Amino acid sequence: MTKDIRLLLDKAADSGLSAYMLTTSDIIVENRGRLKCEFGCRGYGKRLSCPPHILSVEEFREILKEYNTAILLIEEHDTSAEKDILKAWSVLRKGSFHKMLDIEYFAFRHGFTYAQLLRPGACNECDVCGEICRKPELRRFPPEAVGINLSKLMEKEGLEIEYCNFDRIKCIGILLLE
Ligand code: SF4
Repeated sequence: MTKDIRLLLDKAADSGLSAYMLTTSDIIVENRGRLKCEFGCRGYGKRLSCPPHILSVEEFREILKEYNTAILLIEEHDTSAEKDILKAWSVLRKGSFHKMLDIEYFAFRHGFTYAQLLRPGACNECDVCGEICRKPELRRFPPEAVGINLSKLMEKEGLEIEYCNFDRIKCIGILLLE
């Protein structure tokens, strides 16, 4: 089967996602991202998609070397009318995640055997996580959780994250491809 990334880009566009081709050398992995998880995140330790329940930064860095290409996936939402931004973020990231996961599955079926999605935000497929994951087939981790500096990556693409702009929320994922 011919692996054709254009099919994936078209599928992303059909799903309302912006998609940007990357080489994995564009993806900068830093140790300091974990500081923000471990010291300051109110959700630390609660979700099985996030530290300390996932790969270490060093393990991810090694795995990333086995990939050459990736797609940056973005869905931007107008949240200017939202009263409760945390509630909105929960709903929006879940919807964006499922669109992105569909592209991962599609990639797998089209010859990208090691297609692997890094999802927007922490997994919230269940109200709370148990001791072991209840839906392991859906468990994916966010880029920031393994040290990816999304701001730098977006900058390279001429984009901006604007973490504190609550009127426009971006759900961001990365699809690793091989
Ligand atoms: S699928 Fe459920 S149990 Fe597993 S990480 Fe996601 S929310 Fe937690």
